[in-house]
Amino acid sequence: MNNIKLALLLSFFTLICPAQWEPGKVLSPETVSREGLDTYFCSEPISDAVFARIWLKSFKRDCTTPRESLRYLRLLHVNKDGRPQTGELICNKAIAPDLLDIFRQLYTAGYRIEKIRLVDEYNADDEASMTDNNTSCFNFRRINGSKTLSRHSTGMAIDINPLYNPCLNVKSGLVEPAAGKSYARSRKNKQGQTICFIDTRDLCYKLFIAHGFIWGGNWPNPKDYQHFEKR
Ligand SMILES: [Zn+2]
Repeated sequence: MNNIKLALLLSFFTLICPAQWEPGKVLSPETVSREGLDTYFCSEPISDAVFARIWLKSFKRDCTTPRESLRYLRLLHVNKDGRPQTGELICNKAIAPDLLDIFRQLYTAGYRIEKIRLVDEYNADDEASMTDNNTSCFNFRRINGSKTLSRHSTGMAIDINPLYNPCLNVKSGLVEPAAGKSYARSRKNKQGQTICFIDTRDLCYKLFIAHGFIWGGNWPNPKDYQHFEKR
């Protein structure tokens, strides 16, 4: 390979994702403006290092979603203190461009998301991740209490600020995560109004709908306020 080809190849990979990366890191606005937003929003195939983090956790032995169909995204979000923070998620490659665009717009608008880490940081325990108000996407798992695979199993669904936007079973009264009970609401009973509260006037809702997603908050039961999915 000659030097020109090598330089082109290197610049191609640099455009996709820079080498330096530490998810969950709080940054100064000066650092972000110096590095540029493109540095913080990118998509890459599941590397061996990332796969080692998810194997037997969110990517279980019987996972029917091919590794090749998934993408690892690097993101930037405004955290609960209003500061820029790095995030990461794994999604289906079909929605990677949607999510990069949505999260970039949310960041620019100052929309607060507490944290965006792989569910594997919680041993792929959805309840633990939701209780920690962690925003996450891919997790090969069944819908709670059923044998049906969740849309999260293919990386086509995402849960945003799940503690403040819990999933409410209207019939049984079950709230997931249980710790989000004080934030649970129905159309008649709105509690826990916060800046992270998703409803039809919310920017997060508007962006996901504009990108062709369905909102779980519009379902009759359960009302899954944290959940957006694409079919
Ligand atoms: Zn969900």
